[in-house]
Amino acid sequence: MDMDFTPADLAFRDEVRAFLAAELPRHLREAGVGTPSPFAEVDIALEWQRILNSRGWAAYNWPVDAGGTGWTPVQRYIFEKECALADAPPVPIHGLKLIGPIIAHFGTAAQRERFLPPIIEGTELWCQGYSEPGAGSDLASLTTRAVRDGDRYIINGSKIWTSMAQVADWMFCLVRTDPTVKPQAGITFLLVPMKQPGITIRPIIGMAGDYELNQVFLDDAVCDVDCRLGEEGQGWAIAKFLLENERGGSCTAPRLMADLDRLAADAAALPCGAGTLAQDSEFGRKLARLQLEAEALETTELRILAELAAGKPPGPQTSLVKLVSATLRQHIDELVIVAHGHDAMQLPAERPLYGNACPEPVGSKSAQMAMVSYLNNRAYTIFGGSNEVQKNIIARTVLGL
Ligand SMILES: Cc1cc2nc3c(=O)[nH]c(=O)nc-3n(C[C@H](O)[C@H](O)[C@H](O)COP(=O)(O)OP(=O)(O)OC[C@H]3O[C@@H](n4cnc5c(N)ncnc54)[C@H](O)[C@@H]3O)c2cc1C
Repeated sequence: MDMDFTPADLAFRDEVRAFLAAELPRHLREAGVGTPSPFAEVDIALEWQRILNSRGWAAYNWPVDAGGTGWTPVQRYIFEKECALADAPPVPIHGLKLIGPIIAHFGTAAQRERFLPPIIEGTELWCQGYSEPGAGSDLASLTTRAVRDGDRYIINGSKIWTSMAQVADWMFCLVRTDPTVKPQAGITFLLVPMKQPGITIRPIIGMAGDYELNQVFLDDAVCDVDCRLGEEGQGWAIAKFLLENERGGSCTAPRLMADLDRLAADAAALPCGAGTLAQDSEFGRKLARLQLEAEALETTELRILAELAAGKPPGPQTSLVKLVSATLRQHIDELVIVAHGHDAMQLPAERPLYGNACPEPVGSKSAQMAMVSYLNNRAYTIFGGSNEVQKNIIARTVLGL
C-alpha cells in the first residue's frame, strides 16, 4: 500500500489549486461559508456545477466512458480537499455523487444516454427515496408497493426524510414488487419522475429552520418499465452498492480539517482572560485532540482509497469511517459553540446566510454559523446509516461478534 502522493498527484493538486484560484468566484466562496448543511441553495450549487462542467470536472467520480473525469480515488480526494480549503459550496450530490455512478454501472445503454447528460449539465435534479415512515435503519422492511401494469409500474406508498425532493425532477426509489419472497428479494430500484399528479410533497422543516427534508406521497404514481434499474428483485443489491459507493472512497476529513483550521484562526482573535482563546490551555488541548482525530481519519480514508485504487472493494471499514467522521463532525461543532460563547447563541431565521439579504452577524461570521451548523449537523449521526447501525455492522463483520 502506497499512501504518499506521487509527483503526478502533486502536479494535479497544483492544477486544482490554480483552477480554484481563477474560477471559484468570491460570491460562491461566501455561499460555501454560509451554507450550514451538505445541500447548497440550488442556484449556488448549479452555478458552481456549471463552472466545473466547463472544465469537464462536474462528474468527478464517474468513469470516462460515462462522461466523467476518470480520476483515480486519490485525485478525487485531492480535489475534495482543495475545494474544502477554498470554501467551495457543495454540488447537487444526489445526481452527481449518488445515482450518476450507479446508472453508469447498472444502467442500459438507453438509460445511460437518457439520464447521464442532464445530470452532468445540471438540467435535471434528483432525490433519494429509500426511507419510509416505518423503514429507516431496517430498510428492507419498506412497503411502498409497485405493481406492473403493461409497460409501466403503478406505485403507492410514502417516502420520508427525502432531502431536496422539492426541487428534484427525478427520485431514485426502492419499491416492493414482490411481497411473497424474503424482504430483500422483493425490492426493485425505480427511477421515478417527480413532476406528476400521483406525487405530493409535504415539507419538513429542520430544527435550525432550514427546508431540506420532505415526506413524499405516491398515490398511483407511474413510472415506465424502461425506468427500472436492473431486474425486478435486484433493488437491494443496487441500493447496497450505492451505499458502499457513497461510504467507500469517502472524503470527509478535508472538510473537517478546513473547519478546524477556521476554528484555530478564530481562536487566535477571540479574547479569553488576559489573552486570546488560542492561548487557553484547556481549549488548546481540545482543539489539538480534534485535529489529531481528523488527521487519523484522513490517513484511514487515504488507506481505503489506496486499496480501492488497487482494485479492492470497499469493505466494512467504511462503516468505521462513517462512524468516526460523523461523531467528529459533531464534536467540532460543539467546540465551535464553546469558542464563540454568547455569540454562538444567535439563530437567524433568514436564509440564505450570505449575500445582501443575510443579517449582520453578532460577533463574527463564524459565530453566526455556529448554532445553525450545530443543529443541522445533528443529522450526521443519523443519515446514511445511524451510528448504532454502523456499530452493529462493525460488531458483526469486523469483530465477528
Ligand atoms: C437530515 C436527514 C436527511 C436524510 N435524507 C434522506 C434522503 O434523502 N433519502 C432517504 O431515503 N432517507 C434520508 N434520511 C433518512 C435516514 O436515512 C434515516 O433517518 C436513517 O436511516 C434512520 O432511520 P429512521 O429515521 O427511521 O430511524 P430508526 O431506524 O427508527 O432508528 C431510531 C433509533 O433507533 C436506533 N436503531 C435502529 N435500529 C437499531 C438496531 N438494530 N440496533 C441499535 N439501534 C438501532 C437508531 O440508531 C436510531 O437512534 C435522512 C435523514 C436525515 C436526518
